[in-house]
Amino acid sequence: MLNLVLFGPPGAGKGTQSEKLIAKYQLVHLSTGDILRGEIKNQTTLGLEAKKLMDAGVLVPDEVVIGMIGNKLEENKSAKGFIFDGFPRTTAQAEALDKLLAGKNTSVKMMLALEVDNEELTKRLLLRGKDSGRADDSNESIIRNRINEYNNKTAPLKDYYTAQGKFHGVNGIGSIDDIFASLCSLIDK
Ligand code: AMP
Repeated sequence: MLNLVLFGPPGAGKGTQSEKLIAKYQLVHLSTGDILRGEIKNQTTLGLEAKKLMDAGVLVPDEVVIGMIGNKLEENKSAKGFIFDGFPRTTAQAEALDKLLAGKNTSVKMMLALEVDNEELTKRLLLRGKDSGRADDSNESIIRNRINEYNNKTAPLKDYYTAQGKFHGVNGIGSIDDIFASLCSLIDK
């Protein structure tokens, strides 16, 4: 199985590159942000709770997203592999993912990190907010919260995957196709 973790701050281009990777490698896309937005749309209890945190730009509790990923792995038993987008975002989530995959006799093959500086990220997110209608993309102080959450809680995952020899950084500034080509050359190595 080809299990990839796509890593990078909000606005780094994870969604765009995921779509291309899924098409090329026929992977199942698991984005915790998308799953949570689906819960909000359906007005589930979980969705209503998560919305308050998401609108403020802070992370939802680990157990919530770990439970969601566990369910999705069960629902997709015949998948050729998964692309994890926006998950894991904390060390506890990364440890839980390793356990969930080990239970299925598989593991994370690599973490692919899209590297983009903070100034460019804020610009991209404000621009996306105009089209996406996402509350958390349209306000600069919420965007800063999300980038801070990333730097404090998510960035340490670089060390987690480096220790396993699985971390690979890619320059996230450039054309979509050039960035995609860099990702593919790492995967196909
Ligand atoms: P995203 O679409 O990945 O940018 O996620 C949007 C928001 O959903 C984040 O700002 C968090 O509030 C929440 N979220 C998504 N994935 C996770 C995760 N793995 N852990 C905690 N919160 C998450």
